[in-house]
Amino acid sequence: MAGGNEVQYPPRVSHQNEANIVRYIQDWSLANGLVLLSGELNGSGIPAPVTVFPSPFSKSAFNEALLVQKGYNDIYHEIVKDEQWLLKELSELGKYDPDFTGRLLDIHLRVQREGPSQSLTGGLFRSDYIIHSNSDKSGGQIKQVEFNTVSVSFGGLSSKLSELHNYLVAADVYNLSIQGLPALDKNSIPISKSLVKLSSSLAEMHKAYITREGRDQGTAILFVVQPGERNALDQRLLEFELFNSHGIKSYRLTLEHARTKLTKTTSGSSKLLKHVASDSEISVVYYRSGYGPSDYPTEREWSARYFLENSHAIKCPSVLTQLSGAKKIQQLLTDTPIFNRFAKFSKSTLEDSLVLEAKGTETIDTKDFLLKKILDTFVKIYPLDESERGLEARKLAFDSPEKFVLKPQREGGGNNVYRRNIPSFLTSIPKKNWGAYILMELIEPAENKNKILRMGEVYSGNVVSELGVFGGVLWDTKTGESYLNSNSDWLLRTKLETSDEGGVAAGFGCIDSVYLV
Ligand code: ADP
Ligand code: MG
Ligand code: MG
Repeated sequence: MAGGNEVQYPPRVSHQNEANIVRYIQDWSLANGLVLLSGELNGSGIPAPVTVFPSPFSKSAFNEALLVQKGYNDIYHEIVKDEQWLLKELSELGKYDPDFTGRLLDIHLRVQREGPSQSLTGGLFRSDYIIHSNSDKSGGQIKQVEFNTVSVSFGGLSSKLSELHNYLVAADVYNLSIQGLPALDKNSIPISKSLVKLSSSLAEMHKAYITREGRDQGTAILFVVQPGERNALDQRLLEFELFNSHGIKSYRLTLEHARTKLTKTTSGSSKLLKHVASDSEISVVYYRSGYGPSDYPTEREWSARYFLENSHAIKCPSVLTQLSGAKKIQQLLTDTPIFNRFAKFSKSTLEDSLVLEAKGTETIDTKDFLLKKILDTFVKIYPLDESERGLEARKLAFDSPEKFVLKPQREGGGNNVYRRNIPSFLTSIPKKNWGAYILMELIEPAENKNKILRMGEVYSGNVVSELGVFGGVLWDTKTGESYLNSNSDWLLRTKLETSDEGGVAAGFGCIDSVYLV
């Protein structure tokens, strides 16, 4: 921060000043769509929970998270390409979890047997990191929390909040210069272009579809959404951007209604997906739902997922790509031979990593350089099965649980078991099911102080932040070619340190932006 370490952060502001800042945040949020739906009154929204100030974040750690994104996208491409390997691992998981992972896997296998009609497959990913404070590196080392391959959220709202924080500084709403306090520098609050970049990736998928089909008339993207979604405007922002910048129309449907509102027509060997009411042909099925058991309350939703998977539309993501984001796969990647098998990078990934690092090509081996950067983001993750490492981990889970988090193969927050709760949790379930979990070392985040504005109330205290970097991909499963590999900017989420998890929609955390220091 400007002026050195002794300077207080966030800056001390008077009650009156804070009330004014809060008012600006609320009004700007409502005026610009930094909003969650209220969930109570139909058609009304409330400002999204946000930090009052951007949180200080190490510039070098931030750059490293951006630098490795394309490399991670490539690694997941290699994993999905190696279908045999992936299916073997996933079918193990399916045995522990037949009603969810197992059923998704069945859908994939069934569509494979029937002969998939679309070889292009897309993904919007997000790799999440916490800065590990206990490291030799100045500014701390980013450590990966998880790699998400389905329904990643807040790409829309993240752009909005970095714009808002930037505005509050630029227009001196914080009123710091008047009080003679060290000013925040707006140039150190970069604006995340995630909204524009994620929309562009979806547009690329759409364009690839219509180019191959040779027709453009009446094609549209389908957003598969959850019923009653409070974070719908984060999705709407993508929908509006798709239309405004790319002229692409979108529709929104829940899995519940997909079967009745959509139909399929056969054209040669292709099962074209059509939106009944508009007769639009669906180019891309973009999932903002379907990642957890609660998205499939009845057979209707399962049947819809199969119906979509078995269509000619490009799936973002396919069932297989979704499952490649399992925490078990992340654990397996920390195994050196497995990592080496999948750590292959395209030329453009290697070149870009150098540009981000601002280094010349002549001095370093680019592949080694990127490999090391990615390996630096790993913490130890153990299986809990009956392998040698699994048995070692079982001992660790009981001897020193305070160092670990236990994770099932689930997404969306609220599913993990922390620290001292691990032993009693494990003893409460049959030992034969332990292999369904992974045991991960806890990352020790650096603490900052900040203020969180949620539902009109300001909460002050120690906070910890998690940085997510978005990625966009488009692969051809037949040829193994990659048509898109993008680094799509970032999201910062922040929570009060007293809460183990930081889900914004789940009510634990809020959206933040980075103040690079
Ligand atoms: P989900 O897919 O449900 O989001 P995550 O792996 O992201 O699961 O875990 C949820 C939250 O738990 C994270 O956002 C983070 O706050 C916390 N968490 C997960 N893994 C770790 C870890 N290794 N160290 C510290 N906190 C963690
Ligand atoms: Mg996740
Ligand atoms: Mg997460």
